[in-house]
Amino acid sequence: MASQNRVDLDGNPIKPITICMIGAGGFIGSHLCEKLMAETPHKVLALDVYNDKIKHLLEPDSLPWADRIQFHRLNIKNDSRLESLVRMADLTINLAAICTPADYNTRPLDTIYSNFIDAIPVVKYCSGNNKRLIHFSTCEVYGKTIGSFLPKDSPLRQDPAYYVLSEDASPCIFGPIEKQRWSYACAKQLIERLIYAEGAENGMDFTIVRPFNWIGPRMDFIPGIDGPSEGVPRVLACFSNNLLRHEPLKLVDGGQSQRTFIYIKDAIEAVLLMIENPARANGHIFNVGNPNNEVTVKQLAEMMTKVYAKVSGEPSLETPTIDISSEEFYGVGYDDSDKRIPDMTIINKQLGWNPKTSLWDLLESTLTYQHRTYAEAVKQATSKPAASS
Ligand code: NAD
Ligand code: UDP
Repeated sequence: MASQNRVDLDGNPIKPITICMIGAGGFIGSHLCEKLMAETPHKVLALDVYNDKIKHLLEPDSLPWADRIQFHRLNIKNDSRLESLVRMADLTINLAAICTPADYNTRPLDTIYSNFIDAIPVVKYCSGNNKRLIHFSTCEVYGKTIGSFLPKDSPLRQDPAYYVLSEDASPCIFGPIEKQRWSYACAKQLIERLIYAEGAENGMDFTIVRPFNWIGPRMDFIPGIDGPSEGVPRVLACFSNNLLRHEPLKLVDGGQSQRTFIYIKDAIEAVLLMIENPARANGHIFNVGNPNNEVTVKQLAEMMTKVYAKVSGEPSLETPTIDISSEEFYGVGYDDSDKRIPDMTIINKQLGWNPKTSLWDLLESTLTYQHRTYAEAVKQATSKPAASS
């Protein structure tokens, strides 16, 4: 139940607000809606083209928060209701985007429109109506690390100054235009610059979030079960799908890229602090990640294989992984970020926030969810004769 006596980080009572959440039906939106309904008195106008991931919060009408969440099915590309919904709210949170790497080089136009052009009216409506905006960008705006351009044997590669990614100091290093993987990062960077300029020239209140591989239940889809059979989701869902189907996990270019993974529930705590502490969050760009959970993609595959065997009780394959080229897996124009370690100084100073959950623990709870949600459906789908599937 939402407590009525909640205070912000400076001890001031938190007043209930109305939030216009665009992309509320996605992975992050569904967790944020859950948190806001369960622990706060705030109201949510939830905008998305889909609502499958928040259905449990919308029905039945008898839910304790039923009068605090309202779903509006709309596409922000072409819906005239958008401005009035932004105006009805105190704060807009924009999560809407095409954000799966398999789309960046195969659907570059949709990627650029979705991450830049379609977000422009949201920024304009917030600025024009004096509304606060929390915009979701990405850690990919950093692109490659400076260290990745040093010789392989350079000792400087071990120096954090050459790889830790800082909001106010690191450059944004993308590959060439023909590597269309970077269209996503570039579109996100340009919308960040537009928002920053609205803040600087017109005084718009904004916060920009740069997520570093948030993972957990409800991320993306399992191909052929609750998404297209040929679809390629992000790595958590790709590897979950392989594990559920007892197939080897595919390591793109050997799985040498490094990532830091953070549990969605830790990350949502940070977003709630931003929502409820505008004086500390406005005008800032925040990395939100877990620098302690760094692995190569190969190590992630090995850990997920072990965790899945534990939670499912099923033995692992003798050869649990196979290598695949990025061109075969994603098509031409794919490229990759080499390493992503977030500098946590700014978020620590402004919001006193730190991630808590270890990679093993977050994989254990997430794969328990994946097994419980999908194992039976995958079994039925794979046991059907080919003609009827
Ligand atoms: P998601 O794909 O699960 O959610 C995005 C939601 O936006 C979807 O429900 C989609 O239907 C909706 N949407 C897209 N275009 C829309 C439109 N035109 N009109 C209405 N709704 C639209 O993705 P997510 O993981 O929840 O990511 C949310 C945001 O965070 C994105 O902006 C993404 O770039 C950013 N981000 C996420 C991560 C991560 O680790 N999950 C990492 C970096 C950046
Ligand atoms: N990847 C992989 N096998 C898969 C899916 C992804 O090796 O089945 C790799 C991908 O090449 C990238 C990393 O996993 O190096 C993370 O990919 P994801 O799609 O989650 O997003 P990213 O972190 O690149 O934005």
